[in-house]
Amino acid sequence: MAVIQKCTFCGSALPQGAAKLYVRKDAKLIWLCSNKCEKNMHKLGRKPRETPWTEEYKIEKKSRMAAQQHQHSQEAEEAKPAKKAAKKTGSKK
Ligand SMILES: [Zn+2]
Repeated sequence: MAVIQKCTFCGSALPQGAAKLYVRKDAKLIWLCSNKCEKNMHKLGRKPRETPWTEEYKIEKKSRMAAQQHQHSQEAEEAKPAKKAAKKTGSKK
């Protein structure tokens, strides 16, 4: 049974036998698919969440966009009754 590993940095599936594995002091396993991911993580100190070409960034962006849309819809719902109330008061006068 082959376990498909994912790159810890970019989140892409790793081909079997063609990846680097780092073991940190706290026994956390870090799988890296390419030299690009290795340099971005260790040498440049970038975080996957803040690097646009990673899977984690895309997931984070999707959730951020959903939260924004939710906020916009809430603001629209709050604005609608106010408009209706304004129209009602306007028609009464
Ligand atoms: Zn990678």
